[in-house]
Amino acid sequence: MNNTRIRKIVIVGGGTAGWMTAAACAKILRNNYCEIELVESEQIGSVGVGEATIPQIGTYNRTLGIEENEFVRETRATFKLGIEFVDWGAPGERYIHPFGTYGLDMEGVSFHAFFLKAHPDWTARTLEQYSLQAQAARHGKFMRPVNAGNSPLSKIAYAFHFDAGLYAQYLRRYAQARGVARREGKIVDAVQNSQTGYIEAVILEDGCTVEGDLFIDCSGFRGLLIDQKLGAGYIDWSHWLPCDAAVAVPCESAGPPTPFTRSTAREAGWQWRIPLQHRIGNGLVFSRGYIDDDKAAGILLANLDGKPLADPRFLNFTPGRRKLFWIKNCVAIGLAAGFIEPLESTSIHLIQSGVAKLLQMFPDRRFNQADIDRYNRVTAFEFERIRDFIILHYKATQRRRQPFWDYVREMNIPDYLQDKIRLFKSYGRIFRENEELFNDTSWFAVMTGQNIRPNGYDPVADVLSIEETRARLDHIRATIATCAGHMPPHEEFIARHCAFD
Ligand code: FAD
Repeated sequence: MNNTRIRKIVIVGGGTAGWMTAAACAKILRNNYCEIELVESEQIGSVGVGEATIPQIGTYNRTLGIEENEFVRETRATFKLGIEFVDWGAPGERYIHPFGTYGLDMEGVSFHAFFLKAHPDWTARTLEQYSLQAQAARHGKFMRPVNAGNSPLSKIAYAFHFDAGLYAQYLRRYAQARGVARREGKIVDAVQNSQTGYIEAVILEDGCTVEGDLFIDCSGFRGLLIDQKLGAGYIDWSHWLPCDAAVAVPCESAGPPTPFTRSTAREAGWQWRIPLQHRIGNGLVFSRGYIDDDKAAGILLANLDGKPLADPRFLNFTPGRRKLFWIKNCVAIGLAAGFIEPLESTSIHLIQSGVAKLLQMFPDRRFNQADIDRYNRVTAFEFERIRDFIILHYKATQRRRQPFWDYVREMNIPDYLQDKIRLFKSYGRIFRENEELFNDTSWFAVMTGQNIRPNGYDPVADVLSIEETRARLDHIRATIATCAGHMPPHEEFIARHCAFD
């Protein structure tokens, strides 16, 4: 046996990041590989607002062997087929960014090319007719994919909305059942090796120490080890993403839960609406440079479906990322690694992806710097590409005469995003670079949804005549409408498959 093997992992923090990390490590490293101990402080608490996800969470659940109906039941979850954006392009407009892809297989040519050719005067509604997820979302339908050959019903892509508190409890039970030890206590300091600077232990308020070989910092925004101890530093993206606060409040549900998240643009930010089985999660993400807390709470409370179930809760953040995510024997995961506002529900995904990468490059006690460098490089790329996709939503707005929106519409944007828009404007083409998270469907949905119009369609679409193109697209629309009609109402699906006995 390798005598430099990691003997003990210490996870600092028990929010969503801490428990997702603990559960995945417990599953992948099995029982006897090494000890895993998680330290958290109930007194400090967790952010507890991350409730909307993207389809990649299905991979995490499958890796853990989670039984999905049980998971939906225990976390009071609903299914999510995409995000509806309201008033983001121009006030009065709405579009869905659906999961999955548009159209059907077009034998090697992008569906988007044929769409732009057949519909020179497209609107967001025209495009939605080519997405089963968007159609099902609009009609409040949901089912899981079934084995139906080439039918879009075989490829339904979905994610979840869940109760963040129940999710952390669920994963905690899972991890503890697989041997993860939990320690309650507030960490006040850490011991570093005087020569190497490696962290040797964390010190709790009561004087106890918890020693380990590998420390995973899941302590949230404060970055207890990665920043406060190891001085990782932070890259601030406020000039591109000026929102720096949120106010959140749950409210009573009114009507059946919609199978999509809604994001509505507001005076100096945007409001989320996340439907769960037992309530709706709401929040306003806003910029304190443009409105104050009272105004933000007022906007949020004036735009709820039902009675508020708690007092509004404020959260502060600085959009950006750590300069380094892994230093010596410490890896930051979750908010300790960085934060991009939840407009496309990407934070939980970044946790999952961080744990997956760490497990792929799992160290021994020699901590190979080449692995560490790669982890830092790939994670930085991932954060930055998500950042650019989020900035697109702000940049491509036609909202006017509101200082916040005037600023984001006119601001300079990163070169990478500038290039994507330039390419799209010429022939409507989108390319997915390396391992960036969002695919061409996502970019196409937001670019068209917010009225970026290409000057022409991809010339390769001329492989079909206009008559053939229209006939194909008519067929696709009809197929998707039939499939959506076949799906049961979302609440009926939950009641039938995921209800308590
Ligand atoms: P936290 O929840 O802050 O947990 C930190 C943990 O560290 C806690 O257990 C705390 O007790 C512990 N801790 C800290 N200091 C100490 C100490 N000194 N001693 C001991 N323990 C300590 N993500 C999505 O994917 N979808 C969304 O819809 C979404 N919405 C969001 C909305 C808002 C307004 C915000 C701010 C975030 C949102 N996120 C969303 C992000 C998501 O909430 C987080 O990624 C997720 O909750 C992980 O947080 P965390 O575990 O890293 O940090």
